[in-house]
This record gives sequence, C-alpha cells and structure tokens, in this order.
Amino acid sequence: MQSPPPLAAAWRSGTTLPTDAVIAIDGPAGSGKSTTAKSIAQHYGLLYIDSGAMYRALTLAALREGVDAGDGERLESLLADAQLELRSDRRETTVLWQGRDVSTAIRSPEVESSVSRISSHPAVRRGMVARQRALARQGGVVMEGRDIGSVVFPLATSKIFLDASLDARVERRFRQFRQRGEEVDSARVRADLAARDQQDSQRSDSPLTISPDAMVLDTSDWNLATQVKQAQAACLVNPYLDAQLDTDWDTAWRDCLPKYRFAYRFFRLLAHFFGLRQVGLRGQAVPTGVILACNHVHWYDPPLVGSAFGRYPMHTLAKEELFVGPLRLFFRWIDTIPIRRKGYDPDAFREAREALAAGHNVFIFPEGTRRPVGHPGPIKQGLGILAQESVAPLMPFFIRGTWGLQPGGSQNSPLELRCGPVVRLHALPILKQRYDRREISQRIADLCLACFKELQAQSYAETPETDFERELAERMESKLAEKTRQVFGRKPAQDNSPPAN
Ligand code: C5P
Repeated sequence: MQSPPPLAAAWRSGTTLPTDAVIAIDGPAGSGKSTTAKSIAQHYGLLYIDSGAMYRALTLAALREGVDAGDGERLESLLADAQLELRSDRRETTVLWQGRDVSTAIRSPEVESSVSRISSHPAVRRGMVARQRALARQGGVVMEGRDIGSVVFPLATSKIFLDASLDARVERRFRQFRQRGEEVDSARVRADLAARDQQDSQRSDSPLTISPDAMVLDTSDWNLATQVKQAQAACLVNPYLDAQLDTDWDTAWRDCLPKYRFAYRFFRLLAHFFGLRQVGLRGQAVPTGVILACNHVHWYDPPLVGSAFGRYPMHTLAKEELFVGPLRLFFRWIDTIPIRRKGYDPDAFREAREALAAGHNVFIFPEGTRRPVGHPGPIKQGLGILAQESVAPLMPFFIRGTWGLQPGGSQNSPLELRCGPVVRLHALPILKQRYDRREISQRIADLCLACFKELQAQSYAETPETDFERELAERMESKLAEKTRQVFGRKPAQDNSPPAN
C-alpha cells in the first residue's frame, strides 16, 4: 500500500532538491499559486516562471490589435511573431511583449475577462507549451499554471495542485485589486473567477485538472506562511521517497530465485548482443512493488525490458492467447500472468495485485497491443484499474529500436530503453472522492501517455528519428488504419494531444 505523503518526514529529513528539479504548480485562479511558486523558487534557488502571464500577454496584445478571441488562426500567428520574454527577480516578474513592459497592463479586469477564451485554442496552447519547455531547458524551474503537471512537464520532479474554495479565492483576488488601487466590484470578481474556473476546466485541450501524481493542498483556511511551508515540504516528498528506494543490487542478486537469475542472464546476453542502450535508471536503483509500464512496438520488447529489471521478481501481464502448449509451462514458470483482453479479467488483476502487495514488480504494456513506432497510445483502462486497486506507483519507460535489430546495434534504429521516474499517485484519495473509477483510469492513462511521449521526445532529442523509423511508422499507421476500416468501417480515432516537444 502507498502510505500518505510523508510531508513532515520529508521536511525533517534534510533532503534537498536537485539543481535541475522541475516543480509544477497548478490550480485555479486565486489559489495562491504565484506567491507559493515564487517562494519555492527563492527557497530552492530555481527559476520562477508564471505561465499565466504568457497567456495574459497574448490576450492583451489581441485586445489592443482588435483580434477576435475566437479567431484561433490570427491568435496563433500573433504569438508566433511575438517576442515574449519573462524576467523574474526575487520579487517580481517583468513581462515584455515586443520589448515593451506589459507587466501591469496584463493584470487588468479586461484581460482577466478574456484570457481563458484566448488560451483555449489548441494552436495557442501548442505555441505556449513549446516556449515554456524551452524556458526550462536553462535549468531547474518552478512553473505555475493550469496544465504544467499534466501536459507541459509530465515527468516533473514534484507536482503540486493548489486548491481553495471560491469564497477564499474571491476574497484574495479582491484584496489584490484593492492593494493595486483598482476599484472593482466583489460580485464581478466572483463572477469572473467562476467563469474562468468553468472555462479552464472544461476546455477540451489541456483543461485544468488534478494530475493523479500531484500533491493536492487545500489552502482555503491557511495563512500565507502555512501555505508556503507546506508547499516547500511537498516539493521534497518525491526526492525523499526516491532516496529510500532499494538500490542494493548485490542483495537483490543474492535473494534472487534461480529462475530469475537464469532469465536475467539470458535477457542480459540478448541485450548485450543487440547493443541495447539503457538510459535513466537512477544509478542502480530499481524500485520494487511498482507497475512497470512500457510502450509496445515489437515481440522483442519483453525480453529487452527484462534485461533491465530481471534481478527483481517481475510478473508480466500477457495476452492469454500466448499460453499454448509447452509455452504455457514456460510462461507460468517465469511468472507471466495470462490476461483476457476483452473486458475485466478478475483473476489476472488479483494475481497482479498480490504480486505488487508482495513487493514484486508487475510489468504491463498498457496500450494492450503493439502500436506503430513513434506513435504511442492510446492507453487502455487496465493500467488505471490496476493502479487504483493496488495503489502501487508506476514507472513509465520507453523502448525504441526493436524493429530492425542487428548484432552490435543497428544504424536503422537505435536500440534504447529509457526509464522515467517513479510516478506516485498521491492524488488518488482525492480523485476517488470526486470521480468514478472509469474517469480516474482515464486520467492515469492520460498521464502515462504523456510520460511516454515525453520520454520519446527526450530520446529523439538525443538521437533524431531515422528515415527507417519514419517510413516504418507510416507503413504501420496505414496498415492499422486499413485494419480499423475493415473491422469498424471507419478511420481510427485522431490523437489530438499536443506533441511532447
Ligand atoms: O494564472 P493566471 O490567473 O494568471 O492565468 C490566467 C489564465 O491563463 C487562466 O485563467 C487560464 O485561462 C490561462 N492559463 C492556461 N494555462 C496555463 C496558465 C494559464 O490556460 N498554464
């Protein structure tokens, strides 16, 4: 079982944040994101970025140039041509649009009323997300907004979702306007906030949402000092838990059952033979009791993934059609769990849950089948169901290059296994109070897919996609489309999520 986030323990432990830490802070308007994010940035020596200021600057420019808030194309080109710069010092962020300081003007009630509409256009969001990621390439950042944990940085070191009641937020916003000497009507502030809540959380592209791995802090009844301290502590929880991971490979090897030793040696040999590059496993730390979730492109994926994790007991979920003849004995011997792919298979999920509870890892291809190279997803409901039932953390990883294998490594497609961080589903208890199982599974699926895409983007940034991979992707996609047309008489569903980079 995942224990409640040990905020106090993390705070007392003396854990520090890495200098390249990415802290994602999301929440509705008036939840205290700016003050909190600034104080975190200052405390840990990270760069502070207010992503809302970027959307506001575009809104101001659109209002000044008479661009209609519904005209996505003109807004896109307004942003594409703009020089938008954020300069943060210890106290303030200066926002420059085409070199002119607009820091005060972007806080006006007119901008406030239009910004949510303008930021709902997918093209605007794509442009902003690219700029936000570029800003983070300079080093560690604290970024606040609405989609920072869910879309901009799915692999963030720590994610915090700040929540507060509408009453508390109206009160804070009203005070802010008054401090700036602006006369506003409290009823208008309430109406604006409520309308923005509605638009920000109901838009189809990157809505304001609690990422399942966020630490949710309800700040309604907190004073500023408490809020800041709690948030600073929340940043340390994941690094603190990471430091407790089992890193002792020697003990793992000693305790390892002979069958795992055998399988592990065999998988290692295979990985070595084909020149597998393994990226991102922190030192030698391999967590236990974790759901290992990998994208799937080829039959060769499972043994190559096993070469990274095989020293620890690992149970693999595999389709029941594979369990035929003598293969059945072999698969059961290496703890493969047969799963029926249609509907919910209670026996398979029970076995997987028991394995996780015993501290073993469970390996799953959450897409449920092989997918075209370079286009991970969609993710099926099974991952979310298993995560909810077991309350186990996930570890996403991305495999590339199992098509076109060649001894010693292939020029066609680099063979790589890239591991993400341990993703702990801190928000599950809160999500369970608000949503049904299906909705929560979908959120876990969205998060996992965002992680796959981000890992893929990292991989492509280091070794660009090859012609072989591009052609293969096109061939596989059109084959899949053809198959879908034959079976359902229609085209496959479009993936409208923003690219990872
Ligand atoms: O945080 P702030 O209130 O300044 O954000 C202004 C608006 O910008 C939000 O109401 C939202 O519509 C948009 N926004 C967004 N995504 C972000 C940050 C802000 O859509 N990451």
